[in-house]
Amino acid sequence: MIKVQNLRKVYKVGTEKVVALDNINLEIEKGEFCCIVGTSGSGKSTLLNQLAGLEKPTKGSVHINGENISQMDEKKLAVFRQNNIGFIFQSYNLMPTLTAVENVAFPLMFKGVPRKEREKKSRAILKEMQMQDRMKHKPTELSGGQQQRVGIARAFVGKPAVIFADEPTGNLDSKTTEQVMEMLIDISQKNNITFVMVTHDNELAKKAKRVVTLVDGNIVHDTKFDTERE
Ligand code: ADP
Ligand code: MG
Repeated sequence: MIKVQNLRKVYKVGTEKVVALDNINLEIEKGEFCCIVGTSGSGKSTLLNQLAGLEKPTKGSVHINGENISQMDEKKLAVFRQNNIGFIFQSYNLMPTLTAVENVAFPLMFKGVPRKEREKKSRAILKEMQMQDRMKHKPTELSGGQQQRVGIARAFVGKPAVIFADEPTGNLDSKTTEQVMEMLIDISQKNNITFVMVTHDNELAKKAKRVVTLVDGNIVHDTKFDTERE
């Protein structure tokens, strides 16, 4: 599903060069739930941004579904991302003037889904996430955990091939974090969606079947777990 070859990302800041990713090789199968872990500054967000096509690598390539997204121009990439990729942000990134249902329905608009159907799909997925009593609430009328459930529903509603999440539970308390994590694993599995998430929380990563560890822009561990842990 995802194939990364000799990926390198160097940022230039003034005359300084920062090697954020050194040389990354990685393959993630369809339906896999993968956590990328590492300390702050190890390159986790940089890797996720290259995987999701939000930034262009300095060297190397990222293939998703057999397509080299590193070589696509902005227009082609935008369409590809609309059809294949979902993204969940740490800070939710919901639209403040829209209700929960409208926020979730929003990305379907670009796919040409009629309004009635958009809202039907949005309500169904929000219900699946125990949000049936908060459909018409705006983001400021929701708790952090509820806002992130809206953010998650929005990423899943179009059933993309891959969903990327950068510290999706980073702003949540430990109990809510656990609930959200279980929800993410559950709906990814049910829909056979490949899920790649970044976290600095090793305990949280223990719930994933695949854990990739970064140190200074390199993969130092890549472990697959066949059975449920703990
Ligand atoms: P993490 O998400 O693991 O905390 P990042 O991927 O954000 O780490 O950053 C990796 C390294 O690249 C850090 O040293 C960071 O300062 C640097 N970096 C990240 N983004 C940029 C940028 N846009 N410009 C310059 N340096 C950056
Ligand atoms: Mg980061």
